[in-house]
Amino acid sequence: MRLVAAAATDVGRVREGNEDSILHDDRLGIFAVADGMGGHQAGEVASATAIEALRAAIAAGAPVTDAVAQANTAVVDKARADSGMLGMGTTMTAAIEVVGGLRIGHVGDSRAYVLRDGILARVTDDHSLVEELVREGRITLEQAAVHPQRNVVTRALGIDEDVEVDDVALELTGGDRVLLCSDGLSGMLRDTDISTILRRNAEADACARALIDAANDAGGEDNISVVIIDVIGEEGDLPPAPLPEIGIGTTAVRAAAARSAATSAPAAATTEAAPLRARRTSVGRLAWAILPVILVLGGTFLALNWYARSQYYVGFDGEQVAVYRGVPGGFLLWDPQVEWTSEVIERGDLNDSQELVVSREDTFGSFAEARDVVDRLEDRVFPPTTSTTVGPTGLSGTTGTTGASGATGLPATRP
Ligand code: MN
Repeated sequence: MRLVAAAATDVGRVREGNEDSILHDDRLGIFAVADGMGGHQAGEVASATAIEALRAAIAAGAPVTDAVAQANTAVVDKARADSGMLGMGTTMTAAIEVVGGLRIGHVGDSRAYVLRDGILARVTDDHSLVEELVREGRITLEQAAVHPQRNVVTRALGIDEDVEVDDVALELTGGDRVLLCSDGLSGMLRDTDISTILRRNAEADACARALIDAANDAGGEDNISVVIIDVIGEEGDLPPAPLPEIGIGTTAVRAAAARSAATSAPAAATTEAAPLRARRTSVGRLAWAILPVILVLGGTFLALNWYARSQYYVGFDGEQVAVYRGVPGGFLLWDPQVEWTSEVIERGDLNDSQELVVSREDTFGSFAEARDVVDRLEDRVFPPTTSTTVGPTGLSGTTGTTGASGATGLPATRP
């Protein structure tokens, strides 16, 4: 799996400055969107500070949720150091490349989406007043879209030393397209519009540009930021588990307190939810990997049984000459069944070569063909002609026996 990213940010058509910050570092595999808030350029400082701290923490080996917690510390520290920055904060949706996909740390109302097979799914929850009201069933999604307080976030970096960071493990496969964006995009465009633009623009840079143009065309009321991450599949990649439903794949993790996170060893500070999540995804991955094998084996089994049931052979049923349905010896669930028994000839009526015709259990694709062998054998043993002397006809093609050798001297008595 290989990731190719493109990003763009735009001030929009209403705001004076751009308080969003974005990051895409293909080499380190870090992608992030931060949407700052606070007067007098404080929002700009908050988002830029958070992004820089995030990059430094990831580069030092921190897991993504710890890195977001460290970004929180950096913004809190900066706000304390400068009274002009008091009250500043920022959202952050950050994704780092891991084996098989992305690990996302998330705080606020920026979003991560994934487009797979033409279907767009959101993989982060908004930490916003309106989304909480929607979750509680107090307003509808339609009401949320036009709610006067739709910009109010309930969680952000820079507000408190402690921050709760959502942790999303996103498994990816070749052809997937991931979008990180600020609310200047998702607040201006419906998900269906975002989906359409993501599908229609194959090239990531052009797609990022098209998203921003569409948000501006819709009003551009806020700063607009997008990061697009295309997943290039490679041989040996396993298919991922199905997309998580919104909320299911999101595991809220109480990140370590900002101060203690800074002092603890980053590599050891994995999140509490990680083992459970990892186990669940590996089971899902295994199921997907063995599913084709099960289907092929099951299909082969059914096909062979069907084949066995569609075959007929001539053989002895005790002393009787019979046509069996099935294959000699049976196959798996299907033992041969006697389909028909000759009432004309028995084992004792046959000479050695005729007995061999029956005992070697030749198999045929239809009942008629098998029955024909017995019919001809009956004709050889008890010729249906008015004459008791017989010419060299019958089974010559298969056994080399002649009419004379089949004659027993008994009268022709075919029922
Ligand atoms: Mn915004």
